[in-house]
Amino acid sequence: MSAPHLDHPFSGAFPELVHAAQAEEQPDPQLLLLNESHARELGLDPDWLRSPDGVSFLLGHGGGPTVAMGYAGHQFGQLSPRLGDGRALLLGETAGREIHTKGTGPTVFSRGGDGRGALGPMLREYLVSEAMHALGVPTTRGLAVLSTGRRIQRTGVVPGAVLVRTAASHLRIGTVQYARLLGVDGLVERLCTYARKRHYPEASTHEGFFRAVMAAQSATVAQWMRLGFIHGVMNTDNTTLSGETIDYGPCAFLDRYDPAMFFSSIDRHGRYAFRNQPAILGWNLARLAEAMLPLFDADENAAVDKAQGAMNDFPGVWEQAQQRELARALGTADTGIGQRWLQLLAEHAPDLTTANRLLVDDPGALAEIVGSEWVADWQSLDPEVPAHPHHIPRNHLLHEALRDAESGDLGPYLDLLAVVTDPFTDHGPAYRGPAPEGFDESFRTFCGT
Ligand code: AMP
Ligand code: MG
Repeated sequence: MSAPHLDHPFSGAFPELVHAAQAEEQPDPQLLLLNESHARELGLDPDWLRSPDGVSFLLGHGGGPTVAMGYAGHQFGQLSPRLGDGRALLLGETAGREIHTKGTGPTVFSRGGDGRGALGPMLREYLVSEAMHALGVPTTRGLAVLSTGRRIQRTGVVPGAVLVRTAASHLRIGTVQYARLLGVDGLVERLCTYARKRHYPEASTHEGFFRAVMAAQSATVAQWMRLGFIHGVMNTDNTTLSGETIDYGPCAFLDRYDPAMFFSSIDRHGRYAFRNQPAILGWNLARLAEAMLPLFDADENAAVDKAQGAMNDFPGVWEQAQQRELARALGTADTGIGQRWLQLLAEHAPDLTTANRLLVDDPGALAEIVGSEWVADWQSLDPEVPAHPHHIPRNHLLHEALRDAESGDLGPYLDLLAVVTDPFTDHGPAYRGPAPEGFDESFRTFCGT
């Protein structure tokens, strides 16, 4: 078989937003992980992907045009006008999914970085994104991880790796900001039209597109909140237009329900703490509205009014998304019981995943944690049995598995991957409980660099 045919609609339509770039040669590439079922969904033959030509293809040497995409972004509230793919290339797309390879060497957007990926963070993104997919959360997917044979410099010297992922698109709020900052006539409009037709064909106007992004992102972040997921770097360049979760760097999951929790070592002030995620989404959407402003109406004042009007609807849209997830979590749409549940979680700070499972398995035991009054009231509503996972990628388990992988033993990582990609089956207590006392305090994930 020869290399699969990929389409290049984005780089074809938006030469202003991409730079042609070549993947570097890797000294000793080894395919460590291949997502065979996802490969098949894409129409790619897993056996071919395992061949030397397939490995070349995954590393960006398949012969087609490869590009680095430009984007801007507010990072921790500060605008960086030119970020872009500093260590990733868009290979093209097939079956409606863009294929992106991350860690393939410097591009014009590298800003001094080496353009490479470290094994730990690449394995981390693969596992967490596949867990999120299995949990039903819109997300980019992991297609493959390859070690490169390089030793790269981070806090120490670590093995280099490449992650191949797919996405509905890699368009971000930061892509629209970048297009706006370039100042090319009509570019923002063409970009938003492309994104609308691709992701929200039911929307017929730019305002409809903006509102669709708001609804999709709200639905995604509401799922994060139900599962206790903390993204860690909700910058505008890490917020997609499609609504998929993207860029798993210093992400983590709550064990104990502490809404103020944040983990990222680079998030000194807790801007992206668990409880702030809905408000930050609103802030990011406001940056999208600014970047799109002229598209809301040809008349400047009317455009401001319409953008403001759409933003004024965000609290209601968020509220609805949150209610939907609470109703799923509790098996009842009763809003009073849902609000009390959130209060009790904050008050008693149980392990969130365990508490959710007790709703299914043992309401009596749950009563010992959150009190019998709420449980009795909840049961009197005759709720449906909700679906809750037994397993999330527990921070401490992933941490240990990555440490083993970095020292050459992929076994524990593969075991954990099998568990978290089948999260509704009980794989036993070893994968179930929260981190040991004291772990959270010392645990600071490192940005995915
Ligand atoms: P991320 O934290 O992965 O979302 O990346 C933020 C920005 O930094 C993006 O523009 C990345 O392309 C860039 N970046 C991250 N790591 C590297 C690296 N090792 N070399 C070059 N650019 C990088
Ligand atoms: Mg990013």
